[in-house]
Amino acid sequence: MSVRYLAASILFAAACGGSTGEAPDRTEDAVIEIEYIAHAAFLFRAEDGTELLIDPYASRVWLGYDWPTGIEPDAILITHPHYDHDAGRFRGAPFPWSEIVPVVDAPGVQQFGDFTVTGIEGRHADPYGKEFGQRNTLMVVEAHGVRIAHLGDNGPLTASMLAGLGRVDVLLIPGDGVDHILSQTTTAEIIAALDPRVVIPMHYRLPDLEADPESPSDLGEVDPWLEGRGPVRMMGSHTATFGWTQLPEGREYVVLEHAPYVSGTEVAGR
Ligand SMILES: [Zn+2]
Repeated sequence: MSVRYLAASILFAAACGGSTGEAPDRTEDAVIEIEYIAHAAFLFRAEDGTELLIDPYASRVWLGYDWPTGIEPDAILITHPHYDHDAGRFRGAPFPWSEIVPVVDAPGVQQFGDFTVTGIEGRHADPYGKEFGQRNTLMVVEAHGVRIAHLGDNGPLTASMLAGLGRVDVLLIPGDGVDHILSQTTTAEIIAALDPRVVIPMHYRLPDLEADPESPSDLGEVDPWLEGRGPVRMMGSHTATFGWTQLPEGREYVVLEHAPYVSGTEVAGR
């Protein structure tokens, strides 16, 4: 845990109105490492070692697998208070981290080491989230000139949300075979509007972690969502790195494995 970032982030937030991301004129080859934990949870790691965790899920609530131990980020980003994004905090579950770990769960700009985090006011996709006013904070994480947007469970993007997001290089978007969060039409509109170089789907069923074929309810796998999209790069790994000078020329869909340290229920035949 890097407490030193607290003071820096307060100073930075006071001084900075936020950036919507003009394309950087830079040739450095520094990269952000993205590590996929599972569902909508990712770790972002910058060159200075700063780690941000976004959207940790609660163990075995709706999802059939455990939250792993040993994840000790410098800050935690939460797009909205559903148990599959906030570790069950809104429902009163014990939060797995110390109170001194900063939590970003609202719009605003903060700095954590190499990372600038910008939260933008969004709105949860219908019909879910009425119990908390359907609030959903779109998160942009920027370091080394690369801008990553995590949409949480947002619905269609309005003009003000698009303006707040600015340039997006890497887009993390809910995508599953039964259109749990986003319709195909809305998905196409979002990708066209943001025009990211890399699209990483998230928030889909992970069959090797779920013994019950009906679980989680109303959540499809990623393969049908990928049909008709391309090029698709199956990473075969739970990590990938993205640097400004290494982004693909055209759009690429990148599919990460979930982290091998996430354990679920025993799957028959395995
Ligand atoms: Zn969700």
